[in-house]
Amino acid sequence: MTVLFTHPACLEHDTGPGHPERPDRLRAVLAALEAEEFKALRREEAPLATDAHFLLAHTVRHVDGVRQRVPDSGLSAMDPDTILSPGSWEAAGRAAGAVVAAVDLVMAKRAVNAFCAVRPPGHHAERTGAMGFCLFNNIAIGALHARQVHQVQRIAVVDFDVHHGNGTQDVFENDPDLFFASTHQAGAYPGTGMAAEHGIANNVVNVPLPAGTGSEVWRAAMSGSLLPALKAFSPDLILISAGFDAHFNDPLASLRLTAEDFGWGTEAICAVARESCGGHVVSTLEGGYHLDALAESAAAHVRALMASASVAVGRSFA
Ligand SMILES: [Zn+2]
Repeated sequence: MTVLFTHPACLEHDTGPGHPERPDRLRAVLAALEAEEFKALRREEAPLATDAHFLLAHTVRHVDGVRQRVPDSGLSAMDPDTILSPGSWEAAGRAAGAVVAAVDLVMAKRAVNAFCAVRPPGHHAERTGAMGFCLFNNIAIGALHARQVHQVQRIAVVDFDVHHGNGTQDVFENDPDLFFASTHQAGAYPGTGMAAEHGIANNVVNVPLPAGTGSEVWRAAMSGSLLPALKAFSPDLILISAGFDAHFNDPLASLRLTAEDFGWGTEAICAVARESCGGHVVSTLEGGYHLDALAESAAAHVRALMASASVAVGRSFA
């Protein structure tokens, strides 16, 4: 079974007029998942993460800093791109809480995999600071929760957002039992993610791709380096930073992937999960700024998760 976690509070994080990371993104994803083919998705409301959850991946100073900057009215800013509104604190809590709850469900074998349709996104948030539309690192929090509460040892994050997940790498790179692999556009925001960044134990795999890279080269990069490294790591749980801004229509970057590529990549990651960890995958929404492309790509992603869950159940994993 595949579970969809979301919460209406994620729509109340207001980034101001003209900001690409806007509530309509989530509305577009949820509308796409209303289609008949997604009827079998089990829908769950995301709970609120606690301070203890935030503190798994962040310093007290950062958690308090975000809380203090949330305005009573109007907008405030962590940096020129990373905006806060009165609804941002709850939205951030639901976003991280979704990943935590999805991990709980999957580790209890009550679902094979899960998709968290939430915002704000998280993969740019580092231990000590918010950046790039991200307040807290939802996926890193979920990973460290899996370790703390479920004693999951080896945890992998695959990040196919067009931007490098610098925040997740920051949390993961010095821990040999955490693995982070990313495909992203070379030289795009935030400028990190060089192939030479390997982590403490080759537990970081960065595959930067030049602007203009399309389906064939991206799939070859996945098959040729990222997926073999993921398999070799032999994860006990796989999490996906599912950003869909590498789509050819996306206005923020210049890779040229299609919705079908995201479906293909998702299935490829799930195939590793079925071999190494009973198919268990928790995915969370990161970027994706062209509403139709985002909706179509997220649908392809969830379709692949659901197909993988059926295969895993067929093999009586969970
Ligand atoms: Zn992105």
